[in-house]
Amino acid sequence: MQAPFVAIGAKQRSAEEIRARAAGLAEALAALGVGRGDAVALIARNGFHFFEVETAMRSLDGFLVPLNWHLTATEAGYILRDCRARVIIGEDDLLAAINAEIPASAKQVSLEKETAGRLSYEVLAATPPKIARRGSGLESSIIYTSGTTGHPKGVRRLPKSTDEIAARRHALNLLYPSRPGARALVTGPQYHLFSLAVSMTYFGAGADVVVMERFDAESFLATIAEHRVTHTHLVPTMMVRLLRLPEDVRRRYDVSSLEFVIHSGAPCAEEIKRGLIDWFGPVISESYGSTETGAVTLIGSRDWLARPGSVGRPYATGEVRIYDKAGERLTSGGIGEIHTIMHGTPDFTYHGNDDARQRIGRDGMIASGDIGWLDAEGYLFVCDRIADMVISGGVNIYPAEIEAAILSHPAVVDAAVFGIPDPEFGESIAVHLTVAVPLVEEELRCYLRERLASYKVPKRMVFEAELPRLENGKILKRALREPYWAGRQRRV
Ligand code: ATP
Repeated sequence: MQAPFVAIGAKQRSAEEIRARAAGLAEALAALGVGRGDAVALIARNGFHFFEVETAMRSLDGFLVPLNWHLTATEAGYILRDCRARVIIGEDDLLAAINAEIPASAKQVSLEKETAGRLSYEVLAATPPKIARRGSGLESSIIYTSGTTGHPKGVRRLPKSTDEIAARRHALNLLYPSRPGARALVTGPQYHLFSLAVSMTYFGAGADVVVMERFDAESFLATIAEHRVTHTHLVPTMMVRLLRLPEDVRRRYDVSSLEFVIHSGAPCAEEIKRGLIDWFGPVISESYGSTETGAVTLIGSRDWLARPGSVGRPYATGEVRIYDKAGERLTSGGIGEIHTIMHGTPDFTYHGNDDARQRIGRDGMIASGDIGWLDAEGYLFVCDRIADMVISGGVNIYPAEIEAAILSHPAVVDAAVFGIPDPEFGESIAVHLTVAVPLVEEELRCYLRERLASYKVPKRMVFEAELPRLENGKILKRALREPYWAGRQRRV
């Protein structure tokens, strides 16, 4: 059998070579003054560098801070200052775009070439290591939350014992199961937690890892067929795009090698998930969680088909509780705020702001900002984010339910439902959507009336070329909602 490798486009590098380069990089970074607890930022498109820098930082017990290169220079600058990055490694065009905001204290390293003011990554990676560094063995990144509800917060984990590290590793291995000879496919940008976690867990487990340079529905199928991919991950928008491919394109590719596909990050409409299970087989799992707690629930296809819509039960040392507004813990069936925890795993803190950690939950649990409920067997159902809930005429409406109904229409590719000011009801429902083929507003309205109570059918429909989706599947509803509320106070 071929030794484990990482493949990106036409390029391939063995796992052994990646580890050797990471050891060189760690030596060079240590010489630049990077040590335990220090942050090194990486601003780059998908590539071997994510595996190498993460492995190097793990061995130094420092932190990799992956930067989303879609951020503005100001936003990136905020993160670089917040994490006090000692070094920033990047592609030249991406470094240039944020150059004005890179703190003078951060040394710059180019993934392409050495220039005045920038060291060469290749030279650093070729440094002969003087000592073998192992580190404490915990994944070592500071992940900035997507900031859908405010300023991004740098989440980092602080293990108190080796038992905690082992518990976290055990949970990750359940979440992203591997086996000898497994071949994983990374679909999203590696600066996001989901793709980075999939990359590093499968790499660490000795699997081959194939990384897409960027997601495209047909290339995803072609890559699975070409590499005989066994394990992969998706976010719901990718699932919709796959299902909207023409039938002949879908049939062109053999996806029978797939054994495990996990999706997470945003609500997934039932029809979409069912469609993918019909196509790929019962290999689709789902998890629910946040940057802070990591995934806390898990559900396989068969379990999901028995309770469609659930995001699963806590797995490993996970626990989920529901609290009402008054702080009362609710029993099964009660709708309230979802609180989660992974017991015995390294607790997180917000980098540079330990106090904020203390303010975010009840009984040591972490408040998710989502509304949901547990059934009698402990399966969790997510209604929506609290901030996105619409209150119309005193009735609580969950946009996620309406979006699911809209997405079940075969012409619709994407939809964002939110509340807009209404003189009579306080708020009414609007939808911005994208379609694959032309669709008449009245036709969609009729379709929805058959599936939803009339007060849930959007009053206002706006067809768009594209919606402001983050690559982790989340939609920036604030951006869509704000113009409607200009000059007025919304509830949250
Ligand atoms: P910020 O804290 O900066 O606002 P964020 O809340 O988007 O960012 P993340 O940790 O990236 O933080 O996302 C976690 C959220 O993603 C959950 O609270 C939930 O709303 C959503 N989510 C994750 N998985 C699922 C799922 N399977 N089904 C529905 N929603 C999900």
